[in-house]
Amino acid sequence: MSLSRRAFLADATAAAAVSKAAAAAATAAAAATATATAPPAAAPPPAHPGKSVTIERIDVFPVRYPVIGRFKFFERPDGRPGGRAAVLVRITASDGTTGWGQSVPIPRWSYETQETVLTTLRNHLIPRWIGRDPFDEQGLARELDSAIAPSFSTGQPICKAGLDLALFDLTGRLLGQSAAQRWKLPGSPTVTLSWTLNPRHIGEVEDLVAQGRARGYRHFNVKVAPDPRADLELCRLVKRLVPDGFLWADANGGYDEATALAVAPKLADIGVPVLEQPLPSNRLTGYRRLKKLGALPILMDEGIVSHVELQEFIRLELLDGVAMKPARCGGITEARRQIEIARDAGLLVLGSGLTDPDVSLAASLALYGAFDLKYPAALNGPQFLEGSVLRTPFTVTRGELAVPKGPGLGVEVDPSRIEPLTDRDA
Ligand SMILES: [Mg+2]
Repeated sequence: MSLSRRAFLADATAAAAVSKAAAAAATAAAAATATATAPPAAAPPPAHPGKSVTIERIDVFPVRYPVIGRFKFFERPDGRPGGRAAVLVRITASDGTTGWGQSVPIPRWSYETQETVLTTLRNHLIPRWIGRDPFDEQGLARELDSAIAPSFSTGQPICKAGLDLALFDLTGRLLGQSAAQRWKLPGSPTVTLSWTLNPRHIGEVEDLVAQGRARGYRHFNVKVAPDPRADLELCRLVKRLVPDGFLWADANGGYDEATALAVAPKLADIGVPVLEQPLPSNRLTGYRRLKKLGALPILMDEGIVSHVELQEFIRLELLDGVAMKPARCGGITEARRQIEIARDAGLLVLGSGLTDPDVSLAASLALYGAFDLKYPAALNGPQFLEGSVLRTPFTVTRGELAVPKGPGLGVEVDPSRIEPLTDRDA
């Protein structure tokens, strides 16, 4: 696949059809629940195209999905899989309509944990939204940033993403619109996936590639760093096994500058089309040198949380593209904004994820499907996770996932399916 700097296809198939919103009276599962009650006389919401409703209550459900195989971010110190912790968020409007979201912390990837998500939602964020107009998008976002202030960038974005997704789902249902319809984008009916390879040693690679191919995957993303010799051997082997696949290397900030400058041209020679997050997020002069070297496009992932630093880093000429993740950015609303900024600047946009289960995965599919991203998306929840809270769980077919067609995030949560996944230690 040749690598164009134009990250979007101009033509795409028509947007998905709308179906009626459901789940107006979902019963609470046996999970820990944080609830606040609306004030008795909430001010009437301003005029908007949807219904005049207020946010009546918000419930949270800590869950843990079993992990299949090995993914380094979910290993316990003793090497055993620890499960994928998450927190489901349900917003109920005053007319009974519900919207679902999901916070997906990975403490070995960034600083948020399931515990911090729960306490921040219950004690700081949820009380700010009760009684508010769900269509006051900017006012609600300001409340979140006021309650948990930014540090270098947005504070606790993964936690906040759970609320943003639930709000987007709720308002989409009230409007009767999918993401693509809401944003007036043609959209795509499917998203092509990339299979993640993070072998302990080179001897595992052939089998791991075969596992992906057996499930219909044609594209692979590899975890590299800190050992460049092992990384080059890994990429050479994967390129030999899958010569036509899109082979995307992600260092998760694991190289130092000298190593990254040395390995980038060698990865390019092998046919690796992009190098994601080669350095820690705060090594800005290193990014500038890597981009200037021009061996291959340099993407940032961990380094971009809000659109503010994205714009700053574009001006500073630090990057050629972004690996998007709604969870990392504080939700789908901010992620959409960043895609538009990156697209306008001529940057590459690759769809990525945080091993998203269920609802978080639905949000990524809604976003990437709406923008019809050109390259395969590293959405590896279906690869590494078991279990689902959805009435109709996602199924990968020929290495692709269908973009949900309904309003909001397009999926229906079955509350009875939460109980088996409930994290009772949370
Ligand atoms: Mg990454």
